[in-house]
Amino acid sequence: MTITLADDELLVAETFGPTVQGEGPSTGRRAVFIRLMNCNLTCKNCDTPHTWDDTRFDLNAAGTVVSISDLLAWATAQPVDLVVITGGEPLIQQRRLIPLAQGIVYAGMQVEIETNGTIAPAPDLLAWVTRFNVSPKLSTFGAGMPISRRIKGRVLRRFAVSGRSVFKFVVSSIADLDEITELVEVHDLAPVYVMPEGRTAEEVTRRLAEIADPAIERGFHLTTRLHLLAWGDQRGR
Ligand code: SF4
Repeated sequence: MTITLADDELLVAETFGPTVQGEGPSTGRRAVFIRLMNCNLTCKNCDTPHTWDDTRFDLNAAGTVVSISDLLAWATAQPVDLVVITGGEPLIQQRRLIPLAQGIVYAGMQVEIETNGTIAPAPDLLAWVTRFNVSPKLSTFGAGMPISRRIKGRVLRRFAVSGRSVFKFVVSSIADLDEITELVEVHDLAPVYVMPEGRTAEEVTRRLAEIADPAIERGFHLTTRLHLLAWGDQRGR
């Protein structure tokens, strides 16, 4: 994908909302979303491959160049107080996210950024982001990628010590909880949320029931995927 961006532009997959944040500590909170194109990982179970997988999608058609001022005008006109910036991997475009996050905060709103935790946040971005929802990829979810590509210890520590991050792991079985425990101990990560993998309300509900007690015993918080329970696997909800 060869699109050249000006300094005041972002490559956007979609904007949507008002809806609710469906995952993590802000679950249920009214929000709007800005989903950015491109990712530096290739997770087997990715639920947004249209942002990066050029073997299955026409990325030139999927992405739109939008000016930061237009994004700000759209986001700050919404009747919510939370903007979630997601992807793809938003931190690929992080230099351009600084004025966007700053403008959102100046408008009296909060900003969450969802990231896979492999790209360190710049200090100028950290200053404006209310919370990073950091989602490191486990061996099952990111099958085919070596751990050195999925897990960057120094980057995870940077998020952990920022005081502005939570760590959210997508879990497909109880066995994943052991892998999370090891990562949490090695990299000193907290707080930790675990979330059931699933593309349907039935899958999410069944896996949540399987992992709930063992996750709590290990000291982890739980989150569901509220948007899936409410609307199913609809894009833009
Ligand atoms: S990091 Fe996220 S967006 Fe990127 S491939 Fe993995 S699940 Fe998809």
